[in-house]
Amino acid sequence: MANPTIFSRILEGEIPCEEVYKDEFCLAFRDIQPQAPVHILIIPRKPLESLQAAKEEDKALLGHLMLVAAKVAEQEGLQDWRTVINNGEKAGQTVFHLHVHLLGGRTMKWPPG
Ligand code: AMP
Repeated sequence: MANPTIFSRILEGEIPCEEVYKDEFCLAFRDIQPQAPVHILIIPRKPLESLQAAKEEDKALLGHLMLVAAKVAEQEGLQDWRTVINNGEKAGQTVFHLHVHLLGGRTMKWPPG
């Protein structure tokens, strides 16, 4: 990755976060500007810029992020939740380190804005 993002600085421990889960492949922490009662970000330790930057070799890692999202949802007591990956500026991506949003605790609308 060309420039370290705020998420790589969180991974390095340079910036604090409210951690809810971690393992050798990823870290999950609460979003600083929650859009739902539960809003958690799951990020890979590998500095992929986006889902678009992922390669065949990242297949297991991407699956792992999904399973961790489900595990964290259970940990948070959620029965229903939404996962979101924004890819690119027009899709709303502001931090260019791949992350899965886990949102829950309220009724969701569809389609998203
Ligand atoms: P996206 O817009 O999909 O790139 O999502 C980036 C998310 O990161 C936003 O929901 C931000 O609120 C969140 N965020 C940015 N900085 C931090 C931080 N230091 N700690 C936790 N969440 C953050």
